[in-house]
Amino acid sequence: MNRKHYYNNEEGRWHHVWHQSDLKKLDMCPEQARFIWSGAVNDIQGDGAALGTACHYAVEQVLSLQDGPTPSDLAYGAMVEAFDQGLSDITPTIEGWNSYKTVDKMTSVGQTKLDGWYNDVYPNLTPTDRVEESFKKVFYEDDQRVVTLAGQVDLIDANYGVVDWKFPKRDYTKEKWQYERWDIQSTVYCWAMGLPQMTFFVMHGSSGATSSMTIDRGPGDFSFLWRKIEAACRLVEATDLTVWPLNDAGWWCSEKWAPCWSVCKGKRAASEDANG
Ligand code: SF4
Repeated sequence: MNRKHYYNNEEGRWHHVWHQSDLKKLDMCPEQARFIWSGAVNDIQGDGAALGTACHYAVEQVLSLQDGPTPSDLAYGAMVEAFDQGLSDITPTIEGWNSYKTVDKMTSVGQTKLDGWYNDVYPNLTPTDRVEESFKKVFYEDDQRVVTLAGQVDLIDANYGVVDWKFPKRDYTKEKWQYERWDIQSTVYCWAMGLPQMTFFVMHGSSGATSSMTIDRGPGDFSFLWRKIEAACRLVEATDLTVWPLNDAGWWCSEKWAPCWSVCKGKRAASEDANG
């Protein structure tokens, strides 16, 4: 299907590289994932995700100064400058303007979110020098397949362990129980870093409000991840399948959000419309 998933003829087994975002995409709608991974449709870069990327870049620059966590003119200036640069770099790639609509709105909301991070979160960190740390580790292998997990951790903090920044519209932490039950990012990242907990700092809304939640992960979670990934691998390996399960039961399956809409559910609706 692509270089993340291929069959090695010499070895006689499959090689898979999974990012947690791929597993999430598969959870939402397997057929949408198949469309995107095969190149039949392009994933849409939305303004919400783009703002998150620019904010991440700004936070990364502050932490890379290794000057904190004491606020200083140097740190704040680095954050503002990096955000402006990050936003102007990513703006040309935006195809979906569903969240903020304009660059001006993204600029003001992003700056407010970063002020929230700088005032409420940054002073309470005990940051190590492990910022934006990439990993690519073999999760397991047997005679049928080699499974590798890959990703990038925002920060390893001496107190909080694995840390991730989120810059969404709503406050995820109100649904902490759900994340404790099924969040896959914390399972993958805790396994990869060999640490028992992951803390999400959430800069939500447009008021500069922040919140956080810490999720514990251990052997039981890693064992389920093994089963979940094995099932996903077997689906990818079934190359004779011409369609994967269709899951339209969520926000992602809509004209507004689904890049596959026009070749799947929207196509059917259009032909029905045409037939009256
Ligand atoms: S239109 Fe909906 S059901 Fe069809 S592939 Fe896309 S997300 Fe899945």
